[in-house]
Amino acid sequence: MTPVGTFQGKSVALFGLGGSGLSTARALLAGGARVVAWDDGEAGRAKALEQGLDVYDLANADWTQFDALVLSPGVPLTHPEPHWTVRRAYDAGVEVIGDIELFCRERERRASGAPFIAITGTNGKSTTTALIAHLLREAGKDVQLGGNIGTPILDLQPPSEGRIHVIECSSFQIDLSPSLAPAIGILINLTPDHIDRHGTMENYAAIKERLVARAEIALVGVDDVFTHAIGARLAQARRPQQRVVPVSAARTLEWGFYVEGAKTLFREFGHGPEEIETLGDLSDARALRGAHNAQNAAFACAAAWHCGLTDDEIARGLRSFPGLPHRMEEVGRRGRVLFINDSKATNADAAEKALVCFDDIFWIVGGKAKEGGIEPLRPHFGRIRKAYLIGEAAEDFARTLEGGVSFEHCGTLDRALTRAAEDASLSDAREPVVLLSPACASYDQFANFEARGNAFRLLAREVYASPSSIAGGES
Ligand code: ADP
Repeated sequence: MTPVGTFQGKSVALFGLGGSGLSTARALLAGGARVVAWDDGEAGRAKALEQGLDVYDLANADWTQFDALVLSPGVPLTHPEPHWTVRRAYDAGVEVIGDIELFCRERERRASGAPFIAITGTNGKSTTTALIAHLLREAGKDVQLGGNIGTPILDLQPPSEGRIHVIECSSFQIDLSPSLAPAIGILINLTPDHIDRHGTMENYAAIKERLVARAEIALVGVDDVFTHAIGARLAQARRPQQRVVPVSAARTLEWGFYVEGAKTLFREFGHGPEEIETLGDLSDARALRGAHNAQNAAFACAAAWHCGLTDDEIARGLRSFPGLPHRMEEVGRRGRVLFINDSKATNADAAEKALVCFDDIFWIVGGKAKEGGIEPLRPHFGRIRKAYLIGEAAEDFARTLEGGVSFEHCGTLDRALTRAAEDASLSDAREPVVLLSPACASYDQFANFEARGNAFRLLAREVYASPSSIAGGES
């Protein structure tokens, strides 16, 4: 845990008692603050009481006693409208911040030079964050990984000179962190998202920009118009003590980090082509398939390089990265048949990333459909040997596939997996792939995408562990 000493002897109102809220409360208490915690939900309040927190309805509190309101990132700060606690705080002249802000202040107080890598973007945040942490750990560094992925930031070990914090940040968290100034700031990409919570795309992009605006080393994507404009603006501002470095997975750069073929490369500013450094080869990185992962890898290599890792250390780490669960996760192989769990693909855009990576796909698809269904995936239908339809979306998806791809109604995931595995093992493909990339939410049949992916993993293991269950299979 990182006890928060910057509010010692002060009073803090805390709203939102989910995982990060409770972690924040513990860290504030450990640092000597007085915390008054509240949540609209009964469950959060009960958990807080169990942990001995002072739970009190903030609607009835005297707000002039508070030095800050610490808000959970899930609670609206500005849109569609500020939460009532935010209005009360502003009326009383109380600042509104989040747990990452508390960490930043604690870092400033304890060890302002402590290595702190912050990562954001619309897509690829978790993969890039996990990959950076993996590269650094494999090279023997002391690494703390968390934030918007896994462990809440204040549950991690405190910042210190020899310890690297690798922290994923959502736009909501950045919005609550006015003094965010990481040693390395990463902005991967930007496409319209969360507009309901940020009002406009411009506002969303401006919030994301803050993560790199005060970074000592700002690694900024150049592959979409929004990040490109941000990188250009930062470079032009020429802030003292800031280095802005472009990163691309889409084109060769005159300088910066980029991907060419399957190689991640670095060319220093002003250096000739003969001095280009090769940091790693993605062709043997099985957990980093696809152009989107090449982008994530380019950023991770850039961060690792700036942390002093050698080209060899980076190359080795890319190869050994196990990937994240549910994102094109290779869960096993039975003879030639590969089983891939891409349960996180809850819309067509995400499923497309997986479809383009394979040629002979036995595709398990369906669930609770998103607007537009799988129509946008039509250009990739040629890669699909057969589709196995599950869940609510089955009828609708069948209409889209009709005439283009052969399909079968399976209803449930276990039926779909068994049928897909049978067909795959009998196919003449060199490497048939049984792919769960549902292009749908999971709520019609599962609690969430993790439960769906876990079920697929377990079922796949049963299938590839039982030699007699599939005709023609071999282990
Ligand atoms: P995030 O944490 O930003 O949600 P993840 O790393 O968890 O991102 O990846 C989630 C999904 O987003 C992946 O399954 C893939 O479909 C897609 N994705 C990952 N990286 C990228 C990227 N760099 N660009 C576009 N899409 C991506």
